[in-house]
Amino acid sequence: MTDDTSRDDAGPLARLKINLVAPATGGSSLNPFGPISIVPADAGLAEPVAGGPGGASTDGSPAGSKVLIIGSGPAGLTAAIYAARANLEPIVLAGSAPGGQLMLTSEIENYPGFPDGIDGPDLMGRFRAQAERFGTRVVDVDVDRVDLSERPFRAWARGLEYRGETLIIATGASAIWLDIESEQRLRGKGVSACATCDGFFFKGREIAVVGGGDSAMEEANYLTRFASRVHLLHRRDGFRASKIMIDRTYGNPKIEVHTNTAIIEVVGDARVEGLRLRDTLDGAERVMPLEGLFVAIGHKPNTDVFADWLETDEKGYLVAHEHTLSHVPGVFIAGDVQDHRYRQAVTAAGDGARAAIDAEKWLEEVAAAEASGAKVTA
Ligand code: NAP
Repeated sequence: MTDDTSRDDAGPLARLKINLVAPATGGSSLNPFGPISIVPADAGLAEPVAGGPGGASTDGSPAGSKVLIIGSGPAGLTAAIYAARANLEPIVLAGSAPGGQLMLTSEIENYPGFPDGIDGPDLMGRFRAQAERFGTRVVDVDVDRVDLSERPFRAWARGLEYRGETLIIATGASAIWLDIESEQRLRGKGVSACATCDGFFFKGREIAVVGGGDSAMEEANYLTRFASRVHLLHRRDGFRASKIMIDRTYGNPKIEVHTNTAIIEVVGDARVEGLRLRDTLDGAERVMPLEGLFVAIGHKPNTDVFADWLETDEKGYLVAHEHTLSHVPGVFIAGDVQDHRYRQAVTAAGDGARAAIDAEKWLEEVAAAEASGAKVTA
């Protein structure tokens, strides 16, 4: 992955390192398809140690801020940049895989300001450096639980409590899997949802990408840097992807597009050896021999810890009621966790800015109301 290596040399990218990790379950640390995670080089410093960066205070009391932000993709970190520049000293609970979905994205060509494109991890390294420059405390932990019943709002991560006078939820969305047994069994053994992470391991191999949206097209094109041949498999003959991505995919001599094709089994015991496919028009089945499968069929919002507190729509996305404000006063929502329409880095970043501005104004209004003797409840 030459791009990733060069990435380490540049400014904020020096913060990132490629971390080869053994799969948590069901994988071999020796297999060449083991997952890679990209983590901040100083992630250790961000441990939630009492008195440490972003951690609880030395007397053991919870770390608190006027603005507590959960999530560290474009929405969360943009909210942090705005809140920090407004002197609100935000804390970002960034997740154990900080940076959001763009950490798993190859070249981004439509983020304004980068006419030559930019790698996702590069962009997120820059977001984070900018947030930290203005005093944001970023802690790379997953939130287990929240309590939004009163202010300050509370969140717990690795046994430590964090508090915010306001809360901005920017937890994004996660990859969806095909959800067939053989796919789960062979995850990390040739099945992946991250071309940027795992593409390198498929040098000179024949592989497939499943999906008909921009993600699938982007991943298929990216993977031709490594693979000898990429089969794009889509269950219909119409694509959701944008025309430019469809044209690029059909124009790539290393990609073969198979429409009306469903995967019914990933074939292989220790690693992927092929795919059992079904023609969705005539039902005919066949086995396509290959060595890797990249799943790019969309995402689901990361809302589990908020299920008891906040409203979701029919697709499970959080609902903002007034601008970015949820139905809980003081709790704001930004980015892909509430957006299944646009889902772009730039729209998520815009949402983050809106949420931080809304939080700042809300704090001012509450302070003014409380100064006049009113009691404001969450
Ligand atoms: P998407 O647009 O929702 O497309 C998902 C694709 O996966 C669809 O073609 C869908 O098929 C297929 N699919 C879903 N479930 C499936 C299943 N169980 N089995 C087989 N196929 C299945 O998702 P996305 O591609 O991740 O894109 C999400 C958003 O991000 C879009 O707005 C997109 O434009 C944006 N995006 C932009 C870029 C870029 O501009 N560089 C890159 C990536 C993503 P059907 O069509 O039959 O439902």
